[in-house]
Amino acid sequence: MKDLVVAIDGPAGAGKTTVAQIVAKRLCVPYCDSGSCYRAICYLALECGIDPKDPKLLSFLKEKKITLDPGKVFVDSQDLTSHLREPAVSANVSTVAANPEVREYVTNLLVSQSRGRGLVIEGRDIGSVVFPETPFKFYLDASLDIRRERRGGEAIEGRDKIDSRRKTAPLTKPSDSLLIDTGRLSSDEVASRIFEKIEFLLTKNRFYSVAQKILFSLFKIYFRYSVRGLENLHRQGSLIVASNHTSFLDPPLIGVMIPLYYFAKEELFSVPIFGWLIKKLNAFPVQRDGFCRKAIQRGIRVLENGGKILLFPEGTRGDALRQPKKGIGLIARLANEKIQVPILPVKILGSEKALPRGGWFIKPHKIQVIIGKEISPERFSGKDDLAIAKMVMEEIGKL
Ligand code: C5P
Repeated sequence: MKDLVVAIDGPAGAGKTTVAQIVAKRLCVPYCDSGSCYRAICYLALECGIDPKDPKLLSFLKEKKITLDPGKVFVDSQDLTSHLREPAVSANVSTVAANPEVREYVTNLLVSQSRGRGLVIEGRDIGSVVFPETPFKFYLDASLDIRRERRGGEAIEGRDKIDSRRKTAPLTKPSDSLLIDTGRLSSDEVASRIFEKIEFLLTKNRFYSVAQKILFSLFKIYFRYSVRGLENLHRQGSLIVASNHTSFLDPPLIGVMIPLYYFAKEELFSVPIFGWLIKKLNAFPVQRDGFCRKAIQRGIRVLENGGKILLFPEGTRGDALRQPKKGIGLIARLANEKIQVPILPVKILGSEKALPRGGWFIKPHKIQVIIGKEISPERFSGKDDLAIAKMVMEEIGKL
């Protein structure tokens, strides 16, 4: 927890402050409101009679030292906190924050003051610019009416516009941050959603890690297992791995490369030992006749939390490449409403010979896994579920 940075971005009135404070308290790490730095600079500029639009605005700060204390801002030893919400500051802060020199100054200040410690920090560019490497990124949003009401009727549209249109570090949702619509949720519910993702990413499945190592060595010896295109497999972040399906061996053949979650037929969970084993290895049940709602929701949740799932677009096992079902399109489309998730096409060669359908003995046949290039979400936006599934099957076919 010591160096865990939780980045919470979003527009004014999205509920960032209350949620960030709850999260920081529960994690026992400091809370930082990056907006207060911009507000402090804006306040000082106005006090000194400097035009907020002046590109050289920052020059007056040269001899001053800004210090952040949870919830407070000091300039030299003067506590500016009580001035930060004054109407003149709110009206001009976005103009000041659009100044590239100011942004560089504040970014350096935030990074240096965090000094590698744990931190929950809210702002507009935290996940995209200030701490882009943290996996704990959240983007809070709500409708304009709700946000305006939360801000006591403040005309936040102007700030929204300047913040999202400025050239340097505009307000955008980083592709790997989880979108949370706070409109109908309480602050505690939003904080719980954030905790769920943090917990998911921090929980290690040691059983899986050990099984992964053992199976990898066994596969190497028994199947002369080889992988082509390993450079296309990025280890960080959410991912849908999509593969052809010819054998019961397929899930572990891909699962030994990277920790994955996958669907397995419901009845397999009641097979003694085997059912226990697949559960420990991240499988979750799906009804035989297709994707049930619960399983879909579970898969999407894994993706939203930054996990990876394995899907077989064709559904059940079969020999040649077949027409896909629309399930993969549905999951990709729904997951991408909240977090950007690419699809990684993968082709397995030889598993149908090592363990064919109906076979009982695993033969030492050579197996190769080919990993293709990620299909970015932009490529499937606007397509219907079946069209997405067909595109994925085509990419698998090309490997
Ligand atoms: O969060 P708050 O509403 O106090 O932020 C005030 C202003 O500071 C924002 O409207 C935005 O212009 C600027 N800001 C920013 N980047 C941040 C935090 C705040 O540009 N990381």
